[in-house]
Amino acid sequence: IPVVRDLPEVGQGLQDHLAVSYQFAATEPTLNTQLGGMLGKLMMGAKYLLTRSGPLSVPVNQVGGFVRSSPDNRFPDMQVYFNPASYAMTSSGKAVLDRTPGFQISAQPCRPTSRGRIEIVSPDPRVAPSIQPNSLSTDVDKSAAIQAGKVLQRFAATGSLKSVTSRAKTPDLMALDDDGLLADFKQRASTVYHPTCTCRMGRDDQTSVLDARLRVHGVGGVRVVDASAFPNITSGNTNAPTMMLAMRAADLILEDAS
Ligand SMILES: Cc1cc2nc3c(=O)[nH]c(=O)nc-3n(C[C@H](O)[C@H](O)[C@H](O)COP(=O)(O)OP(=O)(O)OC[C@H]3O[C@@H](n4cnc5c(N)ncnc54)[C@H](O)[C@@H]3O)c2cc1C
Repeated sequence: IPVVRDLPEVGQGLQDHLAVSYQFAATEPTLNTQLGGMLGKLMMGAKYLLTRSGPLSVPVNQVGGFVRSSPDNRFPDMQVYFNPASYAMTSSGKAVLDRTPGFQISAQPCRPTSRGRIEIVSPDPRVAPSIQPNSLSTDVDKSAAIQAGKVLQRFAATGSLKSVTSRAKTPDLMALDDDGLLADFKQRASTVYHPTCTCRMGRDDQTSVLDARLRVHGVGGVRVVDASAFPNITSGNTNAPTMMLAMRAADLILEDAS
């Protein structure tokens, strides 16, 4: 592909959120009870189609929030999710709900500092790009991974959750020390699908791809308006910030056109 403009930061700076989850068997009915079997799935499907209500009408993570992993933190640094269902993953990556009651709790460090990259490896657009997330490459992120597990340990130890827990599923969250939490995060944490920052805004063409009006440095008439334009990943979910960026971009484009 002929080079039009050599911008070394294109595809660099990739950031994403990773979450780690732990599952427990429950003493009370959970979504597994309703959705674990084929009959229940059919009934809940029919309920949703007929009444737009029931478990299929709400997000799978029914409770969530932002917490500070330490009272010393000025801002929340962990996003947490609670899901009234437990499941096993098949080798092909399919989630199969348990037949018996269970639930899952998850935590996601809000402000990862590691940066990866995405690069084309061929001029053929059908060839997949190389994506190197480079996750947990900083000490800050390793520490945050441990804190994520500790936050979940504190939730799991509360009277309310203990009162509905019969046992921990493997791996047993409460049995893990710092090293175990970090090793488990490395082994099992996964993306929550927030890839951002690979065409990020910045001051100059050596450290960024776009200027503050979302124009590609040195290339007239080209803007990038999507999550890749974020200078760094947002501390929470990325969809609303992307829409905000798009609304702002519409104003900038109209201003420049007039
Ligand atoms: C499974 C999943 C779950 C998510 N859950 C949440 C959530 O709960 N909350 C949240 O805030 N965020 C969530 N996100 C993240 C959120 O969806 C993204 O951050 C957001 O959509 C990014 O917007 P975007 O415009 O950058 O990219 P996209 O939304 O991916 O838009 C890119 C668009 O470009 C189009 N396109 C691609 N190639 C071409 C081409 N060659 N020519 C023309 N058009 C093209 C695509 O069809 C698409 O419409 C989730 C993402 C995934 C994948």
